[in-house]
Amino acid sequence: MGAPDAIHVPIRSCCACRRRAPKVELIRFFRSAGDRLEIDETQRAEGRGAYVCPSLSCFERALKKGSFARTLRSRSMAPDGEDLRARLERLLARRVPGCGESWNE
Ligand SMILES: [Zn+2]
Repeated sequence: MGAPDAIHVPIRSCCACRRRAPKVELIRFFRSAGDRLEIDETQRAEGRGAYVCPSLSCFERALKKGSFARTLRSRSMAPDGEDLRARLERLLARRVPGCGESWNE
């Protein structure tokens, strides 16, 4: 049993507001085959990831600013904002506020 502060917590920053937070608290997006932007609901998908805060406002900001394409180094990515937003809403609704380990249902 190590001290809690000895546990390594991976930190990532939101590509919209640049806030830094433990990876598990952020929503991971990744670039899938065919240059599509997808939500990585398990945080285990292969490839480059882009993280945003678990909020629709950061998602929309990242979408508007082109942060996803830039972070994922894609020149031609055209994210389906409507579809992703609906899926993100469902994902956020499942999460338990204040619980960093709410990824598993
Ligand atoms: Zn953010």
